[in-house]
Amino acid sequence: MKRKNFLVPKKEVFTCLNCGNKIEGGGYISHCPKCLWSKHVDQDVPGDRQSDCQGAMKPIEVTKKGKEWRIIHRCQKCNKKTIVYSHPKDDFDLIINLSNQGTIKQEKNKKRKKNLTSF
Ligand SMILES: [Zn+2]
Ligand SMILES: [Zn+2]
Repeated sequence: MKRKNFLVPKKEVFTCLNCGNKIEGGGYISHCPKCLWSKHVDQDVPGDRQSDCQGAMKPIEVTKKGKEWRIIHRCQKCNKKTIVYSHPKDDFDLIINLSNQGTIKQEKNKKRKKNLTSF
């Protein structure tokens, strides 16, 4: 049986397209822990590295599944959306910020009124 090449973790250096941070990864690091931006290198499966796009991918949303956070990226070049697991080294404040973005719109008005009365 032939092993599939793309599933073997290999060491690679990924330079963040957004902040220039250099990340040394083991093949599965797909995004920058400082700003959470990613690079469009995977075609169908995270880690396959089959895409020629190489566009910068912006973190647009996070979701939480169980205890794990997942980051949704959108490619600035081709608009492809991907979802990856967050890394323990990721900047958690940024993840929280992203997770709040979805709910902020709904709760903004409530919060404003609250702030005014409690002030
Ligand atoms: Zn970065
Ligand atoms: Zn792309």
